[in-house]
Amino acid sequence: MEQTFVILKPDAVERGLIGEIIARIERKNMQITRMEMTTLEKEVVEEHYAHLKDLPFFGKIVEFMTRGPVVLLIVQGEAAIGEIRRMAGATNFEEADFGTIRGDFATSVQENLIHTSDAPETAEGEIKRFFG
Ligand code: UDP
Ligand code: MG
Repeated sequence: MEQTFVILKPDAVERGLIGEIIARIERKNMQITRMEMTTLEKEVVEEHYAHLKDLPFFGKIVEFMTRGPVVLLIVQGEAAIGEIRRMAGATNFEEADFGTIRGDFATSVQENLIHTSDAPETAEGEIKRFFG
């Protein structure tokens, strides 16, 4: 069993898609072991997306991620990290397959609805960062 960390981004909350996304996670036999709705502080987003800080549109990403409430989740299940990432689809909506969350719902590279951890080390770090 593995744990992964998920953020349902502000666009998912605004568009009323959090139920749809959580239902997909549950249908895959993954357990939600923690869940919190909150509005993120700029500092925590800057830390979370530190690997992107040299991109010209880093400020825009931070602005997007802090503009309204998000839902934070810990998801547990067999191979959860890879499976939830596969369920999310490619970062760019134009490359994300239909059947994935981003492929089905996203129409922008930035506003792509969901963050999911990409490796065991990042999952552990992100769970600590967001849930303490
Ligand atoms: N992002 C963006 N433009 C890009 C790359 C990333 O707006 O060219 C945003 C997008 O919201 C993405 C997030 O920054 O989900 C984090 O980027 P990363 O490369 O880590 O993609 P992910 O792991 O979310 O697929
Ligand atoms: Mg990433």
